[in-house]
Order: sequence, then C-alpha cells, then structure tokens
Amino acid sequence: MDNDQWLLARQPPGGWPSASDFRWQTSAAPEPGPGQFLSETLFLSLDPYQWGRRRRGIELPGSVCHGRTVSRVLASRHNGFRPGDYVFNTVGWQRYGLTGAGVSDFGYMIPRRLDPTLAPVSTALGVLGMLGLTAYAGMIVQCAPRAAETVVVSAASGGVGQVAGQLAKLAGARVVGIAGANKKVDFCLEALGFDACVSHLDPDYPSLLRQACPDGIDVYFENVGGAVFEGVLPLLNQAARISLCGMIAQYGDAEGQSPQEAWMAAGQAVFEQQRVKILPLFVGDYVAQYQDAFLSEMSDLLKDNKIHYREDVWFGLEQAPAAFSAMLKGDNFGKTLIAVSDNK
Ligand code: NDP
Repeated sequence: MDNDQWLLARQPPGGWPSASDFRWQTSAAPEPGPGQFLSETLFLSLDPYQWGRRRRGIELPGSVCHGRTVSRVLASRHNGFRPGDYVFNTVGWQRYGLTGAGVSDFGYMIPRRLDPTLAPVSTALGVLGMLGLTAYAGMIVQCAPRAAETVVVSAASGGVGQVAGQLAKLAGARVVGIAGANKKVDFCLEALGFDACVSHLDPDYPSLLRQACPDGIDVYFENVGGAVFEGVLPLLNQAARISLCGMIAQYGDAEGQSPQEAWMAAGQAVFEQQRVKILPLFVGDYVAQYQDAFLSEMSDLLKDNKIHYREDVWFGLEQAPAAFSAMLKGDNFGKTLIAVSDNK
C-alpha cells in the first residue's frame, strides 16, 4: 500500500507559503507496532497556526507537515482503538499514518474516538473541534457577552469566527461581523443571523464599521489584526474586552517584532485611555477544563439547528499547499479542509 505525503522541503524564508516550501513523496505505508494503530486520513485540517510552526522552525525540513485529521483505523495493536473506528487524530499531511507509542505529536489534542452518528465526522476539525472550542473559550469563557452589548468578530465567516459570532448571538448580544468578499458578508447576515456585517475590502471600511456600531464596541473577538484592527480601535468602549485569538494578517510580516508585540504597540494608547481588557487566547489552555462541556453543549446546539457552519472542502491531498496558501490569503470560505480519502 503506497502512502502519499507532503514533507516540509525547507524552513520557509518568510512572507507567505510558496510551492518550494513543500515536497511530495510516495513510499510504502508502515505497519503498526505494539501500542500503535494505522489509520487512513479522511479529512485533513488546514489552519493558520501551521504556518507559524513552519516559519519558527518547530517543524523540521524533511518531516511530514503537521496537521490535525479525521482518520479511520485500518489496523490496530493499540488497546483503545479498533479497525473501523473514526478518530480525531494528528497524523499530518499524509494518506496513512501511525498513532500511538513512540510516534505521538498530539500536543494538547489527544486522539479520541468519534461518533459518526452525532454529526458529520469532518466537524471534529471545525465546529465540534479545536476551532469550536477556540470560539467558545474566547467568546463565552473570556468575554462573556451580555444582552444588548455590541460584539464585533473579525474573519467572521471563517472557521473560528462563524462559531464565535453565533455564540455571542445566542448570549443575546448585538453581533457585527467583519469579513472580506461580499459573499462572506451575505453569509454572515443571512445564514448566521448577525445583526450587521461589513467588508474590510471596502475603501469606506472604517466609516461602515462606525455606522454598524452606533453604541461603540464592548467585545472584540480578534482573528485578523492589521488594518482590520485599526478600524476597530477608535470604536472601543470604556472597559471593552478583547479576546486576542489571532492576527492572521500579520503572520507574513518581516522578522522583528512578533505579531502580538506589533498588535499591542498599535493599540497601546487606546487600551490605556479606554482601560481595555486584553485577553490573550491559547485554546490548549482550555482543553482540560472545558472540552467535555463544550462538546456536549455544541452537539446539542447542532442537533437543535441553533448553530450553522460552513466548510471549504478541497478534494485530494495533492491540493494541500494550494489550499493552505489560499486560506492564508483569505480565499477560503469557511473552515478549510482537504478530503483525502473517500468516506465509504
Ligand atoms: P479562517 O477560516 O478564519 O481563515 C482565515 C481568514 O482570515 C480568511 O478567510 C480571511 O477572511 C481572513 N484574513 C486572512 N488574511 C487577511 C488579511 N490580510 N486581512 C483581513 N482578513 C484576512 O481561519 P481560522 O478560523 O482557522 O482562524 C482564525 C484565526 O484564529 C487565525 O488568526 C488563527 O491563527 C486563530 N486561531 C487561534 C487559536 C488560539 O488558540 N488562539 C486557535 C485556532 C485559530 P476574510 O476574507 O473574511 O477577510
């Protein structure tokens, strides 16, 4: 059985990904050893944080590119998993992978068996996975929006943003999205039920945002940074809360200040004047305490059709570098996934 893999070809020099950063390789699929299982990747998750790992040298050239997956177990010598099980896994950008003793790169997300009757298994990489938990931790645990407060979410149609905004709506807040293309703005208004949504691509973006937030901003869920953030700054109310989830617009910036340092410096004067509460977010900090409650609550919300989600699925592992670049440039529409193998 042949295994297709994308390897990191080099430590990326900076800026945004290019084809030279990745190398395709086909070799024999491995056999599981004691305590391991072999799985086939059904869906691969492409996420902005993967670019940070590559740029910072956490992934070494020649290694399989890291990535969370939804996989199906093919052969097992592991006590906890049987052939046929669907698993949330981390085997990276490859068709077949080993999990278990001696090969773990799970970080804070350990493999878990999925119930395919609960929701489509791909959701374990989005609304029912790390992205959903990120939205829940930032919006509900950190910011706890109250009824009638104005909540603004950037990258509002994306994997994290779409869930964060809907959770704020369910809490009774007035929700304003910021998105790019018109189709994303329409999606936030029509499918997600946000109260308003503006495009940061519009030359009048700052004044459009001001019009959409006549009472200022009480909670800002930050996914983007850069020019999007500059439009938000003058609208922040006294004691506003910001969940600092990500700064994707700044991930390709030249070396020097880290994206977070540059973001803090850009906002410092307003933060001090308005006594803004900055809440840095790392989803890994919330897994142990909140994951079980989150999965249970979010599964119920999905079953009751109270949360909607959109996935941007590319077909074929070959597409991973192109889809990854597209996502980092904002050309995705929803949670970016690669369908690697047929889910039959
Ligand atoms: P998305 O699905 O939201 O995709 C990224 C989106 O970012 C694009 O669709 C685009 O939306 C927007 N974007 C990209 N570049 C720019 C730009 N230059 N200016 C404005 N918008 C841009 O990705 P995710 O949901 O996976 O991630 C969202 C954020 O959450 C990221 O910053 C990520 O790093 C962060 N994150 C943080 C975690 C944590 O633990 N703190 C965990 C997981 C994610 P549009 O076209 O609408 O502008």
